[in-house]
Amino acid sequence: MNTGGKVIKCRAAVSWEAHKPLCIEEIEVAPPKSHEVRIKILASGVCGTDTSALSTVFHAKFPVILGHEAVGIVESVGEGVTRVKMGDKVIPLFIPQCGFCRGCKSPNSNLCEKADLSGNSGLMDDETSRFTCKGKPIYHFMCTSTFTEYTVVSEICCVKVDDRAPNEVCLIGCGFATGYGAAINTAKVTSGSTCAVFGLGGVGLSTIVGCKSAGATRIIGIGSHKDKYPKAIELGATECISPKDYEKPIQEVICDITNGGVDYSFECAGRIETMMSAFESTYCGSGVTVVLGVTSPTDRLSFSPFMLITGRSLKGSVFGGWTGEDVPKLVTDYMNKKINVDHLVSKTLPLDKINDAFDLLRSGKGVRSIVLF
Ligand code: NAP
Ligand code: ZN
Ligand code: ZN
Repeated sequence: MNTGGKVIKCRAAVSWEAHKPLCIEEIEVAPPKSHEVRIKILASGVCGTDTSALSTVFHAKFPVILGHEAVGIVESVGEGVTRVKMGDKVIPLFIPQCGFCRGCKSPNSNLCEKADLSGNSGLMDDETSRFTCKGKPIYHFMCTSTFTEYTVVSEICCVKVDDRAPNEVCLIGCGFATGYGAAINTAKVTSGSTCAVFGLGGVGLSTIVGCKSAGATRIIGIGSHKDKYPKAIELGATECISPKDYEKPIQEVICDITNGGVDYSFECAGRIETMMSAFESTYCGSGVTVVLGVTSPTDRLSFSPFMLITGRSLKGSVFGGWTGEDVPKLVTDYMNKKINVDHLVSKTLPLDKINDAFDLLRSGKGVRSIVLF
């Protein structure tokens, strides 16, 4: 049946309110307007940022359809769309690529100014939503909204990938690309170096993969859920430690066992305390810390500038420094078995079990759950 140009009724996980379970509802998805694309979602991972949005650590407007780490098929396109066509397999981009703004034009940035990371808009470019439920408009999330059978995104917020790519490549839409790229693109981890990765969720484990592929020889995973250690070791960690096993701060432990600190540290937990631990666990004369975890906008880091003067640096990374153009290349690397994201998938579930995926993530059990549509 040709659905182009028509409103589609489908199921979606609607977050009516913060801190409340998602509700499976029938929604209406309007046809894509000019330069927009309607996508039939095949699979969507549940990322730490989705739980952060639900708990209001990361700002989103409610009611909202969360989700931003997905793969799908283009169902129809609006007028003037040139980047993708009906039937293409695509990955939605939570970091758009308009190609014209200062961020897009700079070789030193992957942050397009059209991104909606602070949840200020939650709407399409014309300031309206394409989703309605029970007569009410539902906000979009991070330009993507993927916990729905169909979504609408701007054409600058999706990219065509290999049609043969399996559902697991949804993780290239956020978690895997974020961690892997933070090591390779942002920190530029060097061969023979030592690394510390704080937080062993989907992003942290992907960072370990990046550190290993960049040639780091010692990779310390820091996490409190020891059931994740075997996975971390399988992916490249040389050892795993828990802050709970030591009486002194974990940064002191790391400095003790690495002759003064690691070369690179990564914060993948989304906590101010772990950001400070990560910063203080690097070598004083040259250590590089990359912050990936998301905290509340009111949170503040506090440290002596002397920590920087002597040679440490502190950086952040969004989507691992990749642009939309890099995403099909990462999928090709996956198809050619140069990278593997399958190890990160700890559970697959149907849309009506999506709250189980949120519970698993919040409890630190498992790594990535993927909702299959
Ligand atoms: P996740 O699976 O929930 O992993 C977070 C990990 O942090 C947990 O597995 C846990 O590790 C650790 N952690 C959580 N709470 C902790 C606590 N109270 N004390 C100590 N450790 C704690 O989430 P994720 O998807 O990997 O995302 C990680 C962070 O990155 C989130 O803040 C997310 O919002 C952010 N993120 C950023 C970007 C970006 O572009 N910068 C992209 C995606 C996600 P253990 O179980 O080992 O203790
Ligand atoms: Zn741009
Ligand atoms: Zn994410």
